[in-house]
Amino acid sequence: MTNRAHNFFAGPAVLPFSVLEETRDAVMNFANVGVSIMEISHRSKEFDAVIQDAERDALAIAGLSAQEYSVIFLGGGASLQFAMVPMNFMKTKADYLITGEWATKAAKEAKMFGAVNEAGSSKDKNFNYLPKSLKFSPDADYVHITTNNTIYGTEWKSVPDTGNVPLLADMSSDMFGVKREWSRYSFIYAGAQKNLGPAGVTMVIIKRAYLEAKANEQAPTMLKYKTHVEKVSLFNTPPVIAVYVLGRTLKWILKEGGLNAIEARNQKKAKIVYDVIDAYPMFYKGTVADKADRSIMNLTWNLPTPELEEKFVAEAKAKKMLGLKGHRSVGGIRASLYNACPMESVEVLAKFMEEFYNANK
Ligand SMILES: *Cc1c(COP(=O)(O)O)cnc(C)c1O
Repeated sequence: MTNRAHNFFAGPAVLPFSVLEETRDAVMNFANVGVSIMEISHRSKEFDAVIQDAERDALAIAGLSAQEYSVIFLGGGASLQFAMVPMNFMKTKADYLITGEWATKAAKEAKMFGAVNEAGSSKDKNFNYLPKSLKFSPDADYVHITTNNTIYGTEWKSVPDTGNVPLLADMSSDMFGVKREWSRYSFIYAGAQKNLGPAGVTMVIIKRAYLEAKANEQAPTMLKYKTHVEKVSLFNTPPVIAVYVLGRTLKWILKEGGLNAIEARNQKKAKIVYDVIDAYPMFYKGTVADKADRSIMNLTWNLPTPELEEKFVAEAKAKKMLGLKGHRSVGGIRASLYNACPMESVEVLAKFMEEFYNANK
């Protein structure tokens, strides 16, 4: 489609064009039933197939079994998970890795349910690195990690060993963008609007044995994971369109070759932009202190002055490159290169960065 912009928004963010087309069709006539996806019961067999497929495809992408893991689709955004996680799994205390604004918000909610041990933090340097010396508590109920820090552009490449303590992760901004050792996690959540679909649905992957053994029974029905696992995300009306789009995006990931192909392409895309940053380090100043911590999803950098940053964003916008303004808490530039961001957009951005450097150095 010729009028499509180059989309670098951090979230909601770019979706595969073919998924948008499928969604347009489902909005007009879902599964040839003669009604819109918005006009049909969530308990119809056609929508049930959407949920079943999405669960199966998510597990297939991660290489997890349905015997061991359950996938559910919830409302409330990743932010609701900040509270639901401790409400369901905290007995006395939990370890949190404080690596950004979202991690901080997650820890804040947990404090309402018990003691939070900051097992590591990079707050002292405005989260521009990932903490390396970590102090886990052997008796913690769980360890909570944010695998990719959307605002600060850092990403855990390998996740620290937590021993026998269950590992729980907010993967909102790199879910299915990189390969992970999925079976190490007892619990994973991801707001869809970064890398999986539209806003309104959060994908949760839970180890069944962990849920059985550890979940608190004393929580409101809607806020218990068990409720949604038992009813396969149909305890109440789920956000049907959001689940549909997420489901089509999972199928797209599989069609593209699964996580091996997706990650390889994401690595290549990120390298194209980081290479330009590193070629002109006095002009494009990467915000992440240690290159090993750099995210391949959200790339963040500064220019010599705020005026140049404003000019960069404005000129990029005039060339149909959108969403490059950094988050308000760090400023500068942020390019989000999620799964559905085409290689062509990344090449256009890198070329623009070269031209902008030459014109303004
Ligand atoms: C965007 C984001 C969130 C918040 O997501 P909502 O769905 O808006 O609540 C949480 N964690 C991370 C890592 C994010 O990137």
